[in-house]
Amino acid sequence: SENKRSFKRVVLKLSGEALREVGSQDNISPEIVGRIALEIKEAHAAGVEIAIVVGGGNFWRGASASARGMDRATADYVGMMATVMNALAVQSALEVEGVPCVVQSAIEMKNVAEPFIRRKASRHLSDGRVVIFAAGTGSPFFSTDTTSALRASEMGACAILKATMVDGVYNADPKKVPDAVRYEQISFRRCLSDQLAVMDSTAFSLCMDNNIPIIVFDLNEHGNITKAITGEPIGTIVTN
Ligand code: UDP
Repeated sequence: SENKRSFKRVVLKLSGEALREVGSQDNISPEIVGRIALEIKEAHAAGVEIAIVVGGGNFWRGASASARGMDRATADYVGMMATVMNALAVQSALEVEGVPCVVQSAIEMKNVAEPFIRRKASRHLSDGRVVIFAAGTGSPFFSTDTTSALRASEMGACAILKATMVDGVYNADPKKVPDAVRYEQISFRRCLSDQLAVMDSTAFSLCMDNNIPIIVFDLNEHGNITKAITGEPIGTIVTN
């Protein structure tokens, strides 16, 4: 279409919950991960350099465990380990589809993943390999949304594509306010002044300060991941 965006390099943020089948006991659904891989394959074939940051919320969230009495830092390390499991599942599915891909982990785990090395990651992307960033930032008290903002900044990505359970940013919570309106485009400043939570505040300010647009889109609609990566107007874009 006419207003199609053209991205050279993007960071796709997949939450852990994106990999789970609703209502299932399994934390990871191989079928769902397979479908996500197919969409990434299509976008990859279009020539976009794709980095992926995976969450871990399908297994564990540090803040929840901490609220139930566990030491926060330790709980966060458990959460980072969870993201590594998800990263391996996504890697496997991409390889089944023939998409060249590497996992880089922010916590060294040399038997299953490369260590995170910024320049090497960038080189993989330039060479056409998908890079999956595991173990978040490697530090507790952060999130994988913050990891997306950090890696996007480091890799010089054009945008963060945040696949979520809602189809964009609304002027009010669409679950509570029936006539809530979705923005096609909104500024970081407006999100702040209207208290619209797009990401946690650390992640959000990193994107704003480093001028990384965030595209929020509905992950459940088939084809949306491909659309988002290949720059079709979709969801809501948050920019400066
Ligand atoms: N985490 C962390 N540091 C990071 C990234 C993640 O400590 O840089 C931990 C944190 O406990 C978090 C968990 O890993 O709750 C899983 O990540 P997140 O909640 O961001 O996953 P998502 O909600 O995207 O599935």
